[in-house]
Formats: sequence, C-alpha cells, structure tokens
Amino acid sequence: MRSRLSLPCFPLAWAAAALLLAGLPLSAAAWSGLQHVQINKAAGRNVPQEMGAFRPFSRAMAFPGIYPDLWKEADDSETPRHYFEPDRLPPQTDIRELSPVLADAFAQMGQTYEDIGIAPWTITDLLSQMTEAMRTNDWLWAARCGATLGHYVADLHMPLHCTRNYNGQETWQVGIHERIETDMTKAFFRANLMNPAPAAYIENPFREIMEWTAHSASLAPGILNADTIAKRSANGRVDTERYYAKLWELTGDTINRQIEDAVSHLSSLWYTAWVDAGKPAIPAPFEELPTPSVHSNVDIPLWEAEAPPAASARSRQNRTYKLIIWSVMGFFAFLAVASAIHRGIQTRKAKEQ
Ligand SMILES: [Zn+2]
Repeated sequence: MRSRLSLPCFPLAWAAAALLLAGLPLSAAAWSGLQHVQINKAAGRNVPQEMGAFRPFSRAMAFPGIYPDLWKEADDSETPRHYFEPDRLPPQTDIRELSPVLADAFAQMGQTYEDIGIAPWTITDLLSQMTEAMRTNDWLWAARCGATLGHYVADLHMPLHCTRNYNGQETWQVGIHERIETDMTKAFFRANLMNPAPAAYIENPFREIMEWTAHSASLAPGILNADTIAKRSANGRVDTERYYAKLWELTGDTINRQIEDAVSHLSSLWYTAWVDAGKPAIPAPFEELPTPSVHSNVDIPLWEAEAPPAASARSRQNRTYKLIIWSVMGFFAFLAVASAIHRGIQTRKAKEQ
C-alpha cells in the first residue's frame, strides 16, 4: 500500500497544463498535450452505464494525462515508459507471446529498456495498482494510476511510438514525429467528432495491449510514406500549409481511428480494473489530482531553479540533430560572409584600377 502524498500547489499544475496546451516543445513528446487531455476525458465518459458514477472522475483525470511527458524532464527513467518498438526484434517474433513479467520478457528479448521501451508492462503494472486501489477504497491512487496509464495507452496508439524509426531518422525524414502527432493533429483533429466503440471487459490485458501495439506498429510505414508524398507535393517543403493539408488527407482517417481506439481501449481498461476489484461503490470525484510522478514521486520541474535535466539517450540524440543542423547552418553562414567579403575586396580592387 502506498503512502498518501500531500497535495501540491494545484495552480502550478494548471500552469503546466496551460504551457503544454500552448505547445511547449518537449523532446520526444507524444500526441500534443491537448490530445492526451481529450483522450483521458473521453475515456471517462465512455465507461459503461453500470460504472456511471466514475464518469465525473474524468474531469480531474483529464489534465494529468499530460503529466508523464513532464516527468521526463526530471526523471531519466520515465522516457522508456512511452514506447515499445517491436521492429527491434527478429521479424518472426509474436509480441503477444512475450512474458507479461517485465524481467522475464527482457531476458527473452535481450534488449535494454531504453532501446525498445516498456510501455505495455508499465500499463499492466498501473492497471494492477488501479485495481488494488479500487478494491481497498484508495480512490485517489486509483484515479492517479488510471490517469497515468491513459497517457501510455494513448502513446501506444501513435504508430511512431511503435517503431525504431520513430522520428524518421533512418529514412531522412527527421522531424516527422512532431510534424504528425503535434503540429498536424493539433491543427486538424476534432475531438467532438470522435465516436469510440463502447468499453468492454478485457480478459487478458497484456495480450490485448500487445494486439493494439502490433496494429499500431503496422501503421507506421504508411505514416512515413505519407510524409514523403506530402513533402513531394509541397515542393520539398515540410513547413507549408500545402504539406500539412496533404499529410492530413493521407493520414487523417488513421489518426482519427487510432485516437478513437485509444479512448475505447482506455475506458475498457478502467472498466476491467473496476470489475476485477469486485465492482466497489464509487465515491464522489476529486477536484484535481497531485502532480508528482506515480513512479518516482519527482514533481513537475517547470518552476524549479533550473539544473539541466539528466540526459537520456533520446535527448542526447535530439541534441546531436540540433548540433548537426546548427553546424550546417553555421557553415553556410560562414560561406555567405566569406563570399561577401571576397566580393567587396574584388569590387574595391576593380575601382582602384
Ligand atoms: Zn508520452
């Protein structure tokens, strides 16, 4: 049983949420903060009628759907919880057959957490905690675990969280991750048009989560291909309206369906936790949930005196990309200045002659 945490300063949580919704750039972030909020909120409304008393919890559980992306900045162990990349395994691997026990699965796979990710095991762990918390009447912890696992469920429904080529870095498409899930989806996705399938009890959550992951992974090549086509149709530019309109035309149906599935699957997990807990009576909802990590208890670091966050492999990789981009830009700037000076000297010489 976990000790209860004192409630932190909630205006800070709202400020954090506001910054995220405004598009605060985060390394390796998932759906934009807005989509995480929408998915958690819609999942709360999507639980079956017999669990109807849980629906008002969706108000307090919506914003915490973005906290896991903020925890990354202060907790180096957070990042691998946001993805699982089956294409790092031999092609004949059936991921549904992997062990639901984290240590056993990683012994089977011969991978590191950071390389391949641990999202499916993180979800099942939080689901167990949510179930136990409901059974023991610890509804604050149940709500916190449920809101947090909502983030990882949403991430796994984003196809680029299920491939090693997650940012197009292997196919000269660097930046596709943010273009598709943040820039495009935030601009075009309409939550009010969502029509998720009703929630249903899940017999074997780990196997089901791996099914969702395998399906999401199967969509990744299509997303990457759409980027290539959209870029071509926009004369090689990826920062134009034409590029984003074409990208949405090619991927919008997939993105809409994946977000709807995330809502349906998340509400199914919450319903499963409640059924497995013995359908306990549901109390009045909370106004808000605390901000610290449910894994490590580190808090959102936004307003702390800024020590730079410890570098994960991905943030190091992002920095490497930035370094390369700045080096190339610096080189061209140097060439431009050198050629201007050279032209100036030539002109002065010509005048002197
Ligand atoms: Zn995430």
